[in-house]
Amino acid sequence: MRVTLAPMSDSTPLLGGIELGGTKCVCLIGTGPEDIRMRTAMPTGADSAATLRRLEAELRRGTETHGPIEALGIASFGPIDLDRASPTYGCITSTPKPGWRGTPLVRRFGAFEVPVGFDTDVNGAALAEGRWGAARGLADFSYITVGTGVGVGLCVNGELVHGFLHPELGHLRIARSPGDTWAGSCPFHGDCVEGLASGPAIAARMGTEAHLVPAEDPVWETVAHALAQLLHAIVVTTAPRRILIGGGIPQARPELLPRVRRQLVRSLNGYIDRPEVAGECDDLVSAPGLGALAGPLGALALAARALAH
Ligand code: ZN
Repeated sequence: MRVTLAPMSDSTPLLGGIELGGTKCVCLIGTGPEDIRMRTAMPTGADSAATLRRLEAELRRGTETHGPIEALGIASFGPIDLDRASPTYGCITSTPKPGWRGTPLVRRFGAFEVPVGFDTDVNGAALAEGRWGAARGLADFSYITVGTGVGVGLCVNGELVHGFLHPELGHLRIARSPGDTWAGSCPFHGDCVEGLASGPAIAARMGTEAHLVPAEDPVWETVAHALAQLLHAIVVTTAPRRILIGGGIPQARPELLPRVRRQLVRSLNGYIDRPEVAGECDDLVSAPGLGALAGPLGALALAARALAH
């Protein structure tokens, strides 16, 4: 069955979203956080074709129940090709995730015949936080996710930052926590931020899942240090009004956030004479307003942006 193009309407448009994460995907239909009419999660299997078939089937089922969508947003783990002039635009590129390298995403969902917004999962989440969440009304902010990897979405002057690629600040090389010499787990860089602070990095280091490591374990101070180094770099490059830190690790360990704030202030060492980075800096560094929904809503925000452009 073909899904027909929705008629233009004065009411809030119905949008479709697909969030492709490293471990799970979410398919949703709605108009925003207060109006999610369908949300289905499924594992991101190693068979990319089968996973995408299931997502498409779910989206079609949703449109049959809730009506046609006017745009679709795809927020994906990366790296992805965002260069519209490139023959591989809309594809996942060099991911180490088995079965997904070179997978076309935008073309795959062309049968819906609606505008398709496409960006990284973190850029999508940043857009959603700017539209509906804790960065609403701000032109300069960042969204960081700490989970399977460490991803950073940067919004500068009201626009998401893209060059020949999206930012990959999770792979920033950083000053190490004094006395810490663990080699890190990034296959490309060892002790980059992701190699020290992602869930798999913590698990590799501790020999147990990150969420099972007790809050008082000293490893969390090294994780906070690595993240604070990332924040230091973001503060001195884009001077954001807010930095939101979401993802599975801070959700499981909310006490990580105050530690990151303290380490950030210590790292900046009084150089930046602004109230944003003084004291507890809990206005600058906070949890996402949309919580665990920041990622899935990112896909809807990308759909809304595609419709507006
Ligand atoms: Zn790395």
